[in-house]
Amino acid sequence: MGATKTYPGGVHALRGVDLTVVSGELLAIVGPSGSGKSTMLNIIGTLDRPTTGTVRVAGHDVNTLSDAQLSALRARHIGFVFQHFHLSPGRDAVDNVADGLLYAGVGPRERRARARAALERVRIGHRLDHRPHELSGGEKQRVAIARALIGEPELLLADEPTGALDSASGQLVLELLRELNAAGTTVCVITHDHEIADALPRRVRFRDGEVVADSGPATPDTATREVRS
Ligand code: ADP
Repeated sequence: MGATKTYPGGVHALRGVDLTVVSGELLAIVGPSGSGKSTMLNIIGTLDRPTTGTVRVAGHDVNTLSDAQLSALRARHIGFVFQHFHLSPGRDAVDNVADGLLYAGVGPRERRARARAALERVRIGHRLDHRPHELSGGEKQRVAIARALIGEPELLLADEPTGALDSASGQLVLELLRELNAAGTTVCVITHDHEIADALPRRVRFRDGEVVADSGPATPDTATREVRS
């Protein structure tokens, strides 16, 4: 709540943002380039801390946690998907996804078994031994989504997940995100694309580091607050 972020050099990326994400939501954070969306995602995802203001994730006040505790919180609760996939080039789909459990205290055999299951879930079980350069953009993004899901996070944060894809592959990725949301995962999509945002149940519009419009949670149940910032 009241989150601000000022980068060195005096860039005011966030100017006092109040946002509550309700468990089970599917929402878009939408706005032009430079409006503070990625900064907001980094703060919601506890990859960065606000300059002032408070952030609560799954009931924890981020300000009171050490970096190690924040890493543990992220590993337990949050999955990340990026525009450019961030897959390891020399490793096949199973290994890329299994790496999502590297810090979860799970042995290699089980990591790989769960990676196969996650890849099946995103319907890419026919590409298990393909390396990223042997996959299309849409397939790469599905592998990246499987990696984000393997730890069974409650919250999935996707930064321009369709930004590097043609529109047909982008639609498939959005459908997949909807499906995951319907199965219970809270999904937050960052986009500069109003068409994508308008297709999602809640839109939070950013401009110049501020929320200028918020269509509000689709469900009125704010008793199960998951993320506040
Ligand atoms: P968006 O994701 O909407 O494009 P960002 O959150 O990336 O916006 O950026 C918001 C503002 O903060 C921009 O003016 C950007 O140049 C600035 N900014 C982002 N990251 C940094 C950083 N690490 N250091 C300095 N300024 C930054």
